[in-house]
Amino acid sequence: MKKHNTVFEALHWASSFLTEHGRDANAGRILMQHLYGTDYTGITMRIHEEMPEQKWNEFREMVEQHAKGKPVQYITGTEEFYGRTFHVDESVLIPRPETEELIVGAIARMKKLFGENVELKLADIGTGSGIIAITMKLEWPHAKVTATDISEAALETAKRNAAHLQADIDFRLGDLTEPIAGEKWDVILSNPPYIAYHEREEMSDVVLEHEPHLALFAEEDGLQCYRRLAESLPNLLNQPALIGVEIGYQQGEAVAKLFQASFPQAEIEIVKDINGKNRFVFCIIDV
Ligand code: GLN
Repeated sequence: MKKHNTVFEALHWASSFLTEHGRDANAGRILMQHLYGTDYTGITMRIHEEMPEQKWNEFREMVEQHAKGKPVQYITGTEEFYGRTFHVDESVLIPRPETEELIVGAIARMKKLFGENVELKLADIGTGSGIIAITMKLEWPHAKVTATDISEAALETAKRNAAHLQADIDFRLGDLTEPIAGEKWDVILSNPPYIAYHEREEMSDVVLEHEPHLALFAEEDGLQCYRRLAESLPNLLNQPALIGVEIGYQQGEAVAKLFQASFPQAEIEIVKDINGKNRFVFCIIDV
């Protein structure tokens, strides 16, 4: 290729190179936006500009990494969640859009149960990059938010995000609810690992080779974290209280049953995501 490609030529090259490697052709555009620190419109405005050699080399390297299977978000080091930019690296799961719906569903139920932006104690179990804890703190400033994770590296990433987004969070290292035991909580949210090990075969190499398995997989057909949450939470909740968890689309009935066994008096809902798949279980404990 000649030395001074225009942005247009580079994007054109990237889209055919990525297609040849079975990847999403649009990734080139996202990587270009990252390289120039701009958005879609910004790139369109520079589309006929020549790229300095260094920028072209960087671009080519990023596109090649993605062609080999590295997720775009780990290349740019960022992902958007609930309108904010979070830092991500291979210590944490890449935020998924479904999890934004967990936030929406939790806030709607919290408003009904407690009243808007009242003071309350909220814990995010298995915080990963910190998206749930940080978003809740910023959307519900009167919440006292605690976030736990078993991975020290993940907790470092979450702390970095909290500092950057100026969210005051109490981070605690440990397994599931262990770090929040001995206290009472009003809201518990979690998007724990929920993929069964036997589902590996159907998963893409982009996920399997890069995202932390600790954040993806769980024993007992993916249900272990929900079982352990359901067992430990009865001692840890105020009344009223709300529990909201993200689940695998086939786990609705099983997860609802686990929580119903621990909270026979609770109102338990299995809620679908925007794609019409069971994706969340909410438990309202209010008697
Ligand atoms: N809570 C984080 C998220 O929703 C991490 C989830 C996880 O690692 N299983 O992305």
